[in-house]
Amino acid sequence: MDKTEQLRQQLAILAEGFRQRLDTELPALEQSIRALSTSEDIAPDALQPIREQLHKLAGAAGTFGYPALGAYARELELKVRELTEQQQCDSQSLHALLSGIDELARLRRSETQEAPVAPPAPADARIDRARCIHVLEHDVPFAKRLCHTLESFGYQVVLHAQASELRQALARNLPDALILDMSAETESSELLEQLQQVQTKRASPLPLLLISDNDDFEFQLSAVRAGAQGLFGRPVDLAKLEDRLERCFNSLQSEPFRIMLVDDDETLAQRYQAVLNNAAMRVEIVSDPRRLLEQMDAFMPDVILMDINMPDYSGPELAQMIRLDDNWLRVPVVYLSAETDVTRQKNALLKAGDDFITKPISDNALVNAVYSRAQRARLLSQALARDSLTGLLKHADIKEQVEIELERACRTHRPVSIAMIDIDHFKSVNDQHGHAVGDNVIRALANLLRQRLRKIDRLGRYGGEEFVAVLPDCHAADAKRILDEIRVAFNELLFSGSNGLFRCSFSAGISACQAPLWEASEQLESADAKLYMAKSHGRNCIIAAADRGDAI
Ligand code: GH3
Ligand code: MG
Ligand code: MG
Repeated sequence: MDKTEQLRQQLAILAEGFRQRLDTELPALEQSIRALSTSEDIAPDALQPIREQLHKLAGAAGTFGYPALGAYARELELKVRELTEQQQCDSQSLHALLSGIDELARLRRSETQEAPVAPPAPADARIDRARCIHVLEHDVPFAKRLCHTLESFGYQVVLHAQASELRQALARNLPDALILDMSAETESSELLEQLQQVQTKRASPLPLLLISDNDDFEFQLSAVRAGAQGLFGRPVDLAKLEDRLERCFNSLQSEPFRIMLVDDDETLAQRYQAVLNNAAMRVEIVSDPRRLLEQMDAFMPDVILMDINMPDYSGPELAQMIRLDDNWLRVPVVYLSAETDVTRQKNALLKAGDDFITKPISDNALVNAVYSRAQRARLLSQALARDSLTGLLKHADIKEQVEIELERACRTHRPVSIAMIDIDHFKSVNDQHGHAVGDNVIRALANLLRQRLRKIDRLGRYGGEEFVAVLPDCHAADAKRILDEIRVAFNELLFSGSNGLFRCSFSAGISACQAPLWEASEQLESADAKLYMAKSHGRNCIIAAADRGDAI
């Protein structure tokens, strides 16, 4: 069963659940009102449960394919609100309410409800295998160097010496990215035309980097139309080229957005969950608001969708609780509510919260509204936590990760290694080739570490040319082996400087720990001490602590 069909079935089941709910809720509402009309003395808040019930219906019915019923439930809810506020609940108004419920039942029968169509899921761009890159390059020695560099960054490379060969390969199968030498003019324009066609059929662009000295407007225009995301003149700066490639992939691949949903209407929450899941977002429903903060800690949401009116706690109250903790300042709280009264909306926002999405909302509008807010929140929090040169965690954030991983290792009795990495004689790189070239070297090492380490490893830029890596579930000896491979690969990279090509190296110190653990700061100091030893051992080497604390 494909994903769309699966979702359609899931939505049909939820819609059936809602239909059944209407069949029991409408008669129940009628009964509660009748019971009120026979009682002698009506308490002022006696209508409150009826109002809550109507409020829920107003929010959910539109989403489940009963728009007129939802709108009418909303009208009734407002009437009940008025009655409660004016404390005027006589038999006449109860009678009017009863005919209102009759009207709801009639709308239930007359609206032929169709399962709403789910929005299409975006292409899932996440891949775990090595990325395959096809290269067209006529200059054989440079082609070798290019392939070797890309391979050391973990890419799988297929080299073509002829455009005809590449075109045949493209007709069979598309790679994950293309790097093309555009020096042969006629074949280049044919290739760009073919690629333009390829790109129009794709949901997300195929990353394409071009190598050419042609700065002609017409050429650049056809390059852009073919989907080129980078143009590199000769001699090609490989560190820059790799960095651009990495950025192309990063914009395609990001962790799915995490959305936390706080709503007491379970059927509706499940429906939103299914629709957002289908758009490749992860959703967690909070059914018991008492556990909200605990669930947030574990789930780390990008956005919180919050109902306003819930039985025991209001949305704005919960939003205020979230805002008590500065750590959650960056997470937007969006009220997803049937509330349409602007003053009430404003009052809710004054307490806490950032925005309103009004129920009922169509599936597509929900996906778009949540997606754009999540994207913005993610970008913002990345900009705050990430270093702008390398995209890695900043000093304070990687330190926090060290603490988190040490605590986890302590709980699970697993090892964890902390590595402190520092580029050798980096000052002389800057002195000889300038700061911009130095920046390229820093970025290249960051990219190499990111490519070669595991997804569970944490990586940060600790200072100028200094990095910290946290490797959970990894003994110091294993961490040393992994980092040694990276050290060799880094040392093989050739950078373009003002006086030609040059190489760099790094040294690293690794501290190892198993329970009982020390403090994060002690672990970092220990890794730094080992780094210092590596520097005095002549650099371009790694020294790791043995699990009992001696150097190995
Ligand atoms: P060692 O092998 O002992 O580590 O020598 P080193 O020259 O690498 O060490 P030192 O700490 O003396 O110099 C680090 C240099 O890194 C000094 C600083 O100007 C430079 N640096 C720091 N941040 C950046 C940056 O963001 N970009 C560039 N290009 N250089 C930076
Ligand atoms: Mg250094
Ligand atoms: Mg340093």
